[in-house]
Amino acid sequence: MLRNIPITRSISMRLLARVFTIYFTITIFITFLHIVLEYSHTKKAVLEELEAVDKTFTPALRTALWEINHEQLQSIADGIVKLPTIVALVIEDNHGKTIIESGDYTAAVQQETRFYHQFHITQTFSGEEIFLANATFYTSKSVVIDRIIFGFTIILLNAAVKSFILLILILWAFRVILFYPLRRLTQKISAINLDKIDTQQIHLGLVHDDELKLLEQCINHMLTKIGKQKRMLIESNEKYQQNLERQVKERTHELAEANQRLSYFATTDPLTNILNRRSLFEYGERDLTRARRNGQPISVLMMDLDHFKAINDNYGHAAGDAVLIAFTTSVQETLRESDLFARYGGEEFLLLLTDTDIDGASKLGEKIRQAVERQVVHFGDQQIRITISIGIAALNDREESLESIISRSDRELYRAKIMGRNRCCTPETEP
Ligand code: GH3
Ligand code: MG
Ligand code: MG
Repeated sequence: MLRNIPITRSISMRLLARVFTIYFTITIFITFLHIVLEYSHTKKAVLEELEAVDKTFTPALRTALWEINHEQLQSIADGIVKLPTIVALVIEDNHGKTIIESGDYTAAVQQETRFYHQFHITQTFSGEEIFLANATFYTSKSVVIDRIIFGFTIILLNAAVKSFILLILILWAFRVILFYPLRRLTQKISAINLDKIDTQQIHLGLVHDDELKLLEQCINHMLTKIGKQKRMLIESNEKYQQNLERQVKERTHELAEANQRLSYFATTDPLTNILNRRSLFEYGERDLTRARRNGQPISVLMMDLDHFKAINDNYGHAAGDAVLIAFTTSVQETLRESDLFARYGGEEFLLLLTDTDIDGASKLGEKIRQAVERQVVHFGDQQIRITISIGIAALNDREESLESIISRSDRELYRAKIMGRNRCCTPETEP
């Protein structure tokens, strides 16, 4: 969840600060201008008043000056100074010498803010204009300011109240229209659950069709799109997974089959489909170990087809192959599941009988020999008969190896061959 922006740092407040600063500066400027104009207008009015006073009092002053009536002149001057516009007055002769003065003259003259109205008082005598005196009416800026101070206050108050009301209004408007909706928007956005994005929408409850509403719509549109993309991504990912699993299954199956084929070819003789010599030793060692452990007998029959070379020579190699296949098939029919039957060499075969002693082995060997003797192999229109010689040996010493038993059976086979073939030989067989 994102933190909230404090109102002091919000867009609305920044807008407010900018707008209000500009407004306030303009207001101050206008107010100042207003005051300056008001001041100069009032100053002009005061001067006009001074001129009006001049017109009013000049006849009286002229008379007093003509008659050189100093007392009357002083009382007129004192009367004039009582007027609120005039702070002092000075009447001088043509040499600049003061005839009379009244009011706070010194202060008025020294004041940098003073301003005045000066005029000549003359008398027409016998058609001639005679200069009587120079009169100066002083007034000051404070007179003007006193007059406009109330107006000033009203103007300032007006500006301050207007500015304050405007500030409150803008503050309220910005908060309601911008700050709170924006805050709601950011809160809603930060509260969106990304795991359920496809079902998430934000609702700010906006009434007006403005930028915020548009922003809300855009965000909702974006959420819908993201949700759709997410669903598509999940679906394609699932499909990809399923496809991958199916491919892995297929490959595993193919691999298992290939392994099976490989192990079959590695352990089986390709012509006769019985065990080859290598797997005979592998399984034979296992059976021998078990027989030793259980104290059971185990016997080996080494079988060799008699004069097989002659069969190849007389009937051809393919006929020889057919004989080898027919021989192994007939032998297999007489065997138990636990017996191991393998092609040991070209036309030499080895039979390993578990849990069978030399007598049992002799009986089975004889049975096989007779069966082979009776068997007729049909190859094309040829009828082929064969015989086999068998050498038999059994485990007698617990420590004896498989090679050693085989070697003894081979010796017995050799004896069987010497003794005229088509027979079984065991160590007990008389020479
Ligand atoms: P003996 O009675 O002394 O065993 O004589 P034999 O002719 O059977 O033995 P010999 O070792 O002289 O000849 C074996 C023949 O077996 C020679 C070889 O060409 C043949 N042979 C070996 N393997 C195959 C095979 O897979 N197919 C065929 N057709 N002949 C084979
Ligand atoms: Mg042979
Ligand atoms: Mg041989």
